[in-house]
Amino acid sequence: MDFFLNDEHRLLEQSVREWGAREVAPHIKELDRAHRFDPRILPQMASMGLLGVCVPAAYGGAGMDYLSLGLASEELEYVDTSLRVILSVHVGLNCLSLLTWGSEDQKQRYLVPQAQGQKIATFGLTEPAAGSDVRGLQSVAIRKGDRYILTGEKMWISLADVADHFLVVAWSDLEKKRQRDPSGLTAFLVERAFKGFSSGTIKEKWGILAGNTGYFKMDEVEVPVENVLGRPGEGFKIAMFALDQGRYTVAAGATGLIRACRDASATYALERKTFGVPIAEHQLVKEMIAQMESDYQVSRLLWLRSGWLKNAGDRNTRETSLAKWFSTVASERAAGNAVQVHGANGYSDDYPVGRFYRNCKGAVIYEGTREVHALMQADYVLGYRVDRPTRCELPPVADGGSEA
Ligand SMILES: Cc1cc2nc3c(=O)[nH]c(=O)nc-3n(C[C@H](O)[C@H](O)[C@H](O)COP(=O)(O)OP(=O)(O)OC[C@H]3O[C@@H](n4cnc5c(N)ncnc54)[C@H](O)[C@@H]3O)c2cc1C
Repeated sequence: MDFFLNDEHRLLEQSVREWGAREVAPHIKELDRAHRFDPRILPQMASMGLLGVCVPAAYGGAGMDYLSLGLASEELEYVDTSLRVILSVHVGLNCLSLLTWGSEDQKQRYLVPQAQGQKIATFGLTEPAAGSDVRGLQSVAIRKGDRYILTGEKMWISLADVADHFLVVAWSDLEKKRQRDPSGLTAFLVERAFKGFSSGTIKEKWGILAGNTGYFKMDEVEVPVENVLGRPGEGFKIAMFALDQGRYTVAAGATGLIRACRDASATYALERKTFGVPIAEHQLVKEMIAQMESDYQVSRLLWLRSGWLKNAGDRNTRETSLAKWFSTVASERAAGNAVQVHGANGYSDDYPVGRFYRNCKGAVIYEGTREVHALMQADYVLGYRVDRPTRCELPPVADGGSEA
């Protein structure tokens, strides 16, 4: 295993870091307070190639590798979780599913404009009555001639009110729906422009306030059969595949949030004095900062391992789940301690750590809750869970990029 970052990786890391510090950090407090998603961020991310960072150049992407996707995720969440979420849903969940499971026609029609950043994409799995329990979905897709008629509602969808393209999972076999047999689920590529599609924003959210999270409804939306991703009945496998990629970005992002907590806490601890000395000199404060450092380093190694496995073309569901589980739980610990280090100042919006604290919690819930990942890890150890090859696997990348 080689975690060596090449010059291209370093350059990407540095340019995303500098862009975030220059273009986003000065405004993020106001955006967060105003619960406002700034759409100008998307063309800027597109111009840096981030919206297709690990998509091959042949499909409009920057042609970099999967480690680059992780590095960009870590740097984006260092500034604000809302930025990393864009990468998670657009690249991780949607573009990489299209790249792996899409037909050539689908790649030309959807992946190319997405990777170029002309169209924004997201992923609609969760519904009002079904999150962890994917078999509990209620959305249905009834085949009529050369179309499917989709009806249902998706809830808690990142970029729901912003995206143009939606990867949607629904039951296409009603008998299998009754039996909760996941081979009755199918994945569809749905456009906002399709008749019967409508969306809205969730206003009552208390974290990731500079990001858009919402719902969309499909009222007899007609989707052509050419827009079935993979084959009918492969929706569950595609959703699980998508989550392998999305979780990877969440893990790398949570790692960036831990680093942000560590840096803010170190700066504050060196400045703030109690009992005549900087609080950095109190051992119990040092302990919190040491915990952040160890959580940061372990989290980074875990997501790097996943990225390395992805580059090599090896199945990484188990490793990615562990990375996502560990780093998001650790980010909650880091953010809680960062507020603690800041005392009452941490309890206000004058310092960023309160925002980190609100933002980190989402990642402990989405893309597999803490409990779902704990169960997965136990089941791997106990031998209850074994990953079998799927019909399509994420294409490996050669050293230095995904030109092939
Ligand atoms: C900010 C945000 C953004 C999101 N973005 C997206 C998106 O873009 N696309 C999308 O499809 N979804 C998205 N989601 C939804 C997210 O994936 C779900 O919230 C998540 O899967 C959990 O589902 P749930 O909320 O229905 O909780 P539930 O599944 O109802 O779980 C509730 C609690 O019960 C626990 N639990 C459930 N089953 C078990 C079990 N078998 N054993 C032990 N404990 C269990 C859970 O761990 C949790 O603690 C987003 C959510 C948030 C908060």
